[in-house]
Amino acid sequence: MSNLYAHIEQTALRDPARELLITDQGERFTWGDLHSQSARYANALARTGVRIGDRVAVQVDKSVQSLFVYLACLRAGFVYLPLNTAYQRSELSYFIGDAKPRAIVCRPQSRGEVEAMAAGATVHTMGEDGTGSLYQAAAQCAPVHAIAQVDEGALAAIIYTSGTTGRSKGAMITHRNLVSNARVLVEYWGFTGKDVLLHALPMFHVHGLFVASHCALLSGARMIWHRRFEPALVLRDLPKASVLMGVPTFYTRLLSEAGFDRTSCAGVRLFVSGSAPLLMETFSAFEQRIGQRILERYGMSEAGMITSNPLHGERKGGTVGRPLPGNEVRVADDRDAALRAGQIGAIQIRGENVFTGYWNMPEKTREEFTVDGWFRTGDVGVFDAQGYLSIVGRAKDLIITGGYNVYPKEIELVLDSLHGVAESAVFGVPHADFGEAVTVAVVPREGATLSEPDIISALRRELANYKVPKRVIIIDDLPRNAMGKVQKNVLRERHAD
Ligand code: AMP
Repeated sequence: MSNLYAHIEQTALRDPARELLITDQGERFTWGDLHSQSARYANALARTGVRIGDRVAVQVDKSVQSLFVYLACLRAGFVYLPLNTAYQRSELSYFIGDAKPRAIVCRPQSRGEVEAMAAGATVHTMGEDGTGSLYQAAAQCAPVHAIAQVDEGALAAIIYTSGTTGRSKGAMITHRNLVSNARVLVEYWGFTGKDVLLHALPMFHVHGLFVASHCALLSGARMIWHRRFEPALVLRDLPKASVLMGVPTFYTRLLSEAGFDRTSCAGVRLFVSGSAPLLMETFSAFEQRIGQRILERYGMSEAGMITSNPLHGERKGGTVGRPLPGNEVRVADDRDAALRAGQIGAIQIRGENVFTGYWNMPEKTREEFTVDGWFRTGDVGVFDAQGYLSIVGRAKDLIITGGYNVYPKEIELVLDSLHGVAESAVFGVPHADFGEAVTVAVVPREGATLSEPDIISALRRELANYKVPKRVIIIDDLPRNAMGKVQKNVLRERHAD
């Protein structure tokens, strides 16, 4: 069975009356709804000329109907192209021009704007409640649809990378990539039909779209479906859940809620974190408060999940665990030779989970794979003696100052341990003498006052001189993208002078 939807269909047909999910507003959907609605959407899109291999671009608010549209694309062999709801006109026009979708599904309020750039694609709408022109068109269509016979290497999705380090690239993801990664995760994280996954992640990013949804859909777990992460609503529903998947900010925000305690988490067997680094402080505070350790894992659009801390066995804070079964991970030097434990280098990966290349960018694709077939993730990391990987940062965030390499993470760890510092980001800015100058942005804890000279002298006691920042900027918030990643490119631009 090459088509991912064929695996989902097996669960759907086993017991169509079984509950699939309940929304934050108490609406219930069954597996039968999933199967018939996704058929209707597949038929509605096909009716406007979408064929196997055509792209369907989707920029809509999260709704259960939007999940069904994604599944419709899988089952019909259309290539799903999710777009962040934060993208504005110039970004949209780049994605549409690059991917040339046959159909675009957008929010009702953006219809005019999207039609103006659609270049022949059919434009449909879908609102926050799931209704709109696509919903109406689907209602006219039959609730049956034969699964498209695609081969394993057929494209299932194109995911544009978040582009924190340059022009966004479309990662081509195949059915094989998705099926293999989902199966591994279900097994590794112990998902079963008895689980209840609290799904509060966005659906335009791999974390919510693939990782969370596929674990539930392939294991038959039920979902509690939240349109967005709202700490109070999560607290209300956690007692009914057995798994929560989130980005680190989910956990820091939950920890600032008084009602977040062992009682509310009594039924939760697993908390997963990823997409951005989980601070050691959050990891420890969580363990102290809740009595369990967050399971941190590492992945990316181009490869799904790559490493994970174990379900059983030691979960080490500050690490992203070991390579998942079937995934090979090496930390390599400048000549792509594997380094030993304890040595910092470029993270390279190989396996069925790894994408086939960047859409329309054969040159870029070639550059990003080694001659022996490993993908260069662009992340820098180090293995410990037990084979646990720690991410040191993005290669592009490496600072070279006076000829020395400085890994921002090392300085951030020291900064975060200083009294009065809530969080920090270290980046390089051009400097006439040093090439780049180490620069620091720190966010004070509530009520704390920080000063540049104090921070510099504290760092001087802990770090070699060349790592001590030339400048410390005190700010209220770090710039982040929708997945909680700190945008160092924004900091570099903002403080270039
Ligand atoms: P994306 O393609 O948007 O999912 O971004 C992938 C990138 O997020 C990776 O290449 C890492 O730089 C970062 N990332 C994902 N998970 C983690 C993690 N657990 N710790 C640190 N960085 C992470």
